[in-house]
Amino acid sequence: MTLPPVERFESSTGVRIYRLSCQAFPTLIAHTYLVLGAGPVTLVDTGSGYGDSTNHIMEGLDSVRRDFGESVGRRDIRRIIITHGHVDHFGGLVQFTGPITAEIGIHGLDKWVLVSYEERLLVATKAVRFYFAQAGVAPTRVAELMELYTYSKRHVQSVAVDFTIADGQELDGLRFIHTPGHCPGQVCILIGDVLLSADHVLPRTTPHQSPESITAWTGLGHYLEALSKIGQVDGVRLALGGHEGPIENFYERLGQIRVDHERKLDRIQSLLGDPAGRTIQELADRLYPTVTEWNVLLALTEVGAHVEYLYERGALRVVNLDQVEREDNPALRFSAR
Ligand SMILES: [Zn+2]
Ligand SMILES: [Zn+2]
Repeated sequence: MTLPPVERFESSTGVRIYRLSCQAFPTLIAHTYLVLGAGPVTLVDTGSGYGDSTNHIMEGLDSVRRDFGESVGRRDIRRIIITHGHVDHFGGLVQFTGPITAEIGIHGLDKWVLVSYEERLLVATKAVRFYFAQAGVAPTRVAELMELYTYSKRHVQSVAVDFTIADGQELDGLRFIHTPGHCPGQVCILIGDVLLSADHVLPRTTPHQSPESITAWTGLGHYLEALSKIGQVDGVRLALGGHEGPIENFYERLGQIRVDHERKLDRIQSLLGDPAGRTIQELADRLYPTVTEWNVLLALTEVGAHVEYLYERGALRVVNLDQVEREDNPALRFSAR
């Protein structure tokens, strides 16, 4: 994958925003943003810390100095804001904070991911394993998927957090909007007419959803509410996400993402007409028949988030209640009401 070059944006408030990209994982490019002219020199997100990810961001910082004439280097970063507690956004934190003194901030609901990473990984891994069994994933397959789930997370370690971010908070011309769903503590950052939309709004991909039965404050219900909430923010000329290109049609894009979820919900309901019901694994096989590796995991959680949304709102029922009563954690079979 070719890394996009460093790109410069400027907000209506005169803040310079540089997009520095990195190869977060072999098939994933992630963006971090260097924010100049809004209080102390601020870096938003730090990449994954995996492979050459941190070096890529360092090279980006060199380019900001060399190609854009900014007298700023790695040691000038005084504040690091993490948009949400996913590894591709904070995994590089320790590699950044080693040689510098920067205040680290994250929303309160994702703080524990940073400060007690090892505990969080263990507890989340258990919840995911429980979820896969309930989703009807074959026991032999669960072990493979769990290996995939933990593989990308092992190189990370806990780091102290200096301040937590609250919804509506203003800090040196940055306004934070809490937009839970994709991740519990996901925040967007408004800088004048530019919105750093992180993984809440992306230009091409509909951001991934996971059931809140695994982690509270995720789930499609929270996500769709947060999508409405960000749509109430006026005057966004440009949105810059955690992946993919700049978003110039921000409000239109919100509508497209909503329609995409509505289509998925309709499709799932139409596949659940049979009274014998289907498991989440069976639905994922129908909806995402060709996925491999990491995407298998994404498909199972994405489908689960939609099934959960429908079930919580009374549109589905569980048909194998006898089995649920008898066994500890059987696969649930869902059917439309
Ligand atoms: Zn994310
Ligand atoms: Zn991401």
